[in-house]
Amino acid sequence: MEPAARREPILLVVSGPSGSGKDSVIAALRTLEPEIGYCVSTTTRTPRAGEIEGVHYRFVTRDDFERMAARAEFLETREYAGNLYGTPKAFVEDAIRSGHDIVMKPEVNGAMKIKELYPQAVLVFLTVRSEDELARRLERRNADGPDDIAARLETAKSEAKAIANYDYLILNDEFDVTVAQLRAILRAESLKVWRLK
Ligand code: 5GP
Repeated sequence: MEPAARREPILLVVSGPSGSGKDSVIAALRTLEPEIGYCVSTTTRTPRAGEIEGVHYRFVTRDDFERMAARAEFLETREYAGNLYGTPKAFVEDAIRSGHDIVMKPEVNGAMKIKELYPQAVLVFLTVRSEDELARRLERRNADGPDDIAARLETAKSEAKAIANYDYLILNDEFDVTVAQLRAILRAESLKVWRLK
């Protein structure tokens, strides 16, 4: 990939319904492109099995979250399936200032806000072929209760309406192909003429 030092950094935003595979795809991309930083969001959600504080999220109480929001520590915040999520402002600003590529995974409202603040952000929507497939994946993941899964599926329907606002759409049919497609987007973006210094 064209080194970040010689160009404007890439702000890669990957959204998609819960269960579309965002986390695994982003993790695989980061293994292939280790220079890209991951923007760790803050949430009031309880950690799932295997989730690590500061790696997957910063897990905070609602009070803490609200205090952080009052101090303008977030670029955007959103309530999703009963929990609050926020993108850390300082991390994104530092990355852009110091010229480092980053990837983040806000839901659609967050992605729209990021695009408004940073029109150069590259928005990728990751999804699967059908609602049934999404339901199967969420059940297989076995991380959320039945009510939470229902809320996530309901949100997925409205999120799909935002696809037209994205730059790229990837159907996560086959994991390796999906990762290769996301990597191709990153690589092509690194060669955009306007980015070159
Ligand atoms: P989950 O609880 O499954 O980790 O995340 C729920 C949803 O919130 C997902 O669509 C995820 O991408 C989104 N999300 C995670 N972090 C943020 C954030 O900082 N801002 C916004 N707007 N959405 C987020």
